[in-house]
Amino acid sequence: MEKWLSLWSMGQTKTEQDMKAIRQAGFAGVEIWAEHHSAEADMALAADAGLKVGLHLPFHDLNLATPYEGVGTVITERNKYWLGKLGELGGGHAVIHGGSAWASEDEEDAGARVVGRLQQIRALADEHNVQLLFENQIPDKLNYMHIFPSSVDEWMSILDKTQTAACLDTGHLAVLGAPLAETVARLGNRLASVHFSDNDMKGDLHQLPGDGATQTGTRELVKILKENGYQGPVVFEINPYTYTLADILEHPSVTAQLDE
Ligand SMILES: [Zn+2]
Repeated sequence: MEKWLSLWSMGQTKTEQDMKAIRQAGFAGVEIWAEHHSAEADMALAADAGLKVGLHLPFHDLNLATPYEGVGTVITERNKYWLGKLGELGGGHAVIHGGSAWASEDEEDAGARVVGRLQQIRALADEHNVQLLFENQIPDKLNYMHIFPSSVDEWMSILDKTQTAACLDTGHLAVLGAPLAETVARLGNRLASVHFSDNDMKGDLHQLPGDGATQTGTRELVKILKENGYQGPVVFEINPYTYTLADILEHPSVTAQLDE
């Protein structure tokens, strides 16, 4: 199991020294945050430092459930662009969000649009040697919008309809209130990446594991993943507005070995 870092965790500024420090701290790869101003330069910096490169596709303003065809065209273009960039580096994995229905009454029609667009983007990803990973989200507690996916059942259904693999965000799952071990077992070989962070089980705080209330530290996570034969990356996705890179690299949850 490899240790990876989401570059969202670093904020907007990254240097060659930062990338070296990440590599020296035992990280095998980094997930580029496509919405960062420097995302393209970050790809090159990471590759130069000997880090594997994955991608978190952009999602703000790119709602896969949108009824606007014009927005749908922008979604296709932006994803094509980024999948192509990752393809130029030899491919890898790319994480995508599903978006939301404007109102929960529109869930059915909006859900069909999410499935259609995901199928299309997955086909584009295939062309660039990229594995598209659909990430679990946190439901809207108002039940005003409907977020895709809002439950593990809905997630599994969309994964199967779109032939996408799963990126499991442990923090999102904790806020949803679904059990981690059972969810990992249900995902089985659909699970291709894990976003790892902690929170107070109410909000998506992206704390370092052990600093929140979920009781899932590195050891607990690795045990569950190993029991289910998981061999993909564990991607630390940590709040850059709470922690510095040094905080992250020195934290016991990060210095812990994944393969003891
Ligand atoms: Zn995530």
